[in-house]
Amino acid sequence: MNEDADSIAEEHIRALLRYLGEDDTREGLVKTPERVARSLKYLTKGYAEDPKEILGGALFVEDYQEMILLRDLDVFSLCEHHLLPFFGRAHIAYIPKRRIVGVSKLARLVEVYARRVQVQERLTTQVATTLMEELDPLGVGVVLKAEHLCMRMRGIEKQNSVMVTSAMLGAFRTHHETRQEFMTLINGGEG
Ligand SMILES: [Zn+2]
Repeated sequence: MNEDADSIAEEHIRALLRYLGEDDTREGLVKTPERVARSLKYLTKGYAEDPKEILGGALFVEDYQEMILLRDLDVFSLCEHHLLPFFGRAHIAYIPKRRIVGVSKLARLVEVYARRVQVQERLTTQVATTLMEELDPLGVGVVLKAEHLCMRMRGIEKQNSVMVTSAMLGAFRTHHETRQEFMTLINGGEG
């Protein structure tokens, strides 16, 4: 990491603490700027990773043309409007044409886009579009259900409200039955 950039970030966080009315020299806060800078860097480490590279190394040719679904994948991200967390579950499905991808790579793909400052809508679309481009499948469906602390902590929406976004491409967009099968698989057995 760049030491100059680190110390500039830490100085800004110190200024932010003073702005909030804190004494940034008191014992409990002395190391906070360093911790916050490091933690934010970790939470946004997706910028340093290339989603296409992640998928590229794990594509397999397989004669399988049924829906493949990864359900209930944990997602943690930061809303770009407030830099507060939003988090929930992603459900990703695709119907391969020739190529399939390792399941762990699907999880990593979501991680690369989630570990950035985001809006839920864009995160959903980016995952779907990248899969469409890299796998060239018959279709892709992505549904993301998340709670936003910027809403919950600030009392904007009813407590426990969940935002749902979806991106349906290829067969998931054109075939009602495919979309329906996806939605049934997602919702089935969810307590
Ligand atoms: Zn927000």
